[in-house]
Amino acid sequence: MTQPSFDYLIVGAGFFGSICAHELTKRGKRVCVIDSRNHIGGNCYTEERNGIHLHMYGPHIFHTSNPEVWQWINQFVAFNQFTLRPVANYKGEIFSLPFNMWTFAKLWNITTPQEAKAIIETQSAHITQEPQNLEEQAIKLVGTDVYRKLIKGYTQKQWGKDPAELPASIIKRLPVRFTYDNNYFNDTYQGIPIGGYTQIFSQLLKGIELRLNTDYFKDELPTHDRVIYTGPIDKFYDYRFGELEYKTQTFTHEFKAQVPNYQGVAMMNFTDVETAYTRIIEHKHFDPVDLPHTWISYEYPVPYKASESEPFYPVNDTPNNTIYAKYKALADQEPKVSFGGRLAEYKYYDMHQVIESALNFIRNLTT
Ligand code: UDP
Repeated sequence: MTQPSFDYLIVGAGFFGSICAHELTKRGKRVCVIDSRNHIGGNCYTEERNGIHLHMYGPHIFHTSNPEVWQWINQFVAFNQFTLRPVANYKGEIFSLPFNMWTFAKLWNITTPQEAKAIIETQSAHITQEPQNLEEQAIKLVGTDVYRKLIKGYTQKQWGKDPAELPASIIKRLPVRFTYDNNYFNDTYQGIPIGGYTQIFSQLLKGIELRLNTDYFKDELPTHDRVIYTGPIDKFYDYRFGELEYKTQTFTHEFKAQVPNYQGVAMMNFTDVETAYTRIIEHKHFDPVDLPHTWISYEYPVPYKASESEPFYPVNDTPNNTIYAKYKALADQEPKVSFGGRLAEYKYYDMHQVIESALNFIRNLTT
């Protein structure tokens, strides 16, 4: 029998795929990476335009509390000291995010944590049981005023669903603080790679066979022994148990030739339901450069169509998780295919969690 050309065919050049490619190559395996898009890096892809690194698929702020992950990524790139301190814009009124004393002080004209807690307790008194959905969870955490101005419209737009139909876990991603601390994350380490994310992937994939614009399902593939698949799991099985729902969005990027500082912050969330976009990103604030111009991006949520849209977020509600469990049961039986990353594991992973999961996957690989 002739030997296949590659030991591993890796489908997807995002974090999971690129890490596997890098680590397996180090172990002497013959690896080929394919990606259906025309670039590496998945949704972390950044592109330099006019001296500014644009996050082409929305803001990516690296954060982790895992020293191993932090050390691992620092082999490939230097990080700056960026801390995410986003601003919410509700019909022209500006609030601090995440929900912290700056937010509560502005909203209620108060100054102390005790006052803020008392107001939230009053506003959430009707939620007496364990919150069953995002709306109840949000009101329990921050009360009805914050919910109405900063959560309801934004969530409705982003997910295309009423917050009462979404899992409570989504809102628990955000810190609620009774201190004047507006760092969006609680993690020990945080920053933006100086010079953008793409260089990390270029280094991970250096010297490895890479085929862009190559579709696993349609194009001719090199012979291989095993597959590491990082795309949507339902697509892999031709949707036999039904389509999984993913949330997706599109971006319009705008160059502002005469504007050195458009909005004064990297990320501004538009939290009313009427404004069509969810956020405006001003990229130069992530990786600061002294230039007379700027690039901004509008982020628009759009309905997801399987096989047509670029999936971004899994929708981990009960119906979708039930379908996923069926696919997972099949995936677990595959002798030669492994599944990893946000889309294939149907998990709302952040970058550091994907890295952790890929490093663990490689560590546990016996062949
Ligand atoms: N969220 C909100 N208002 C905001 C920001 C976030 O209601 O201004 C809610 C919304 O439901 C969102 C969730 O919090 O889906 C998680 O937000 P996060 O910033 O973690 O989302 P991501 O950065 O992954 O898009």
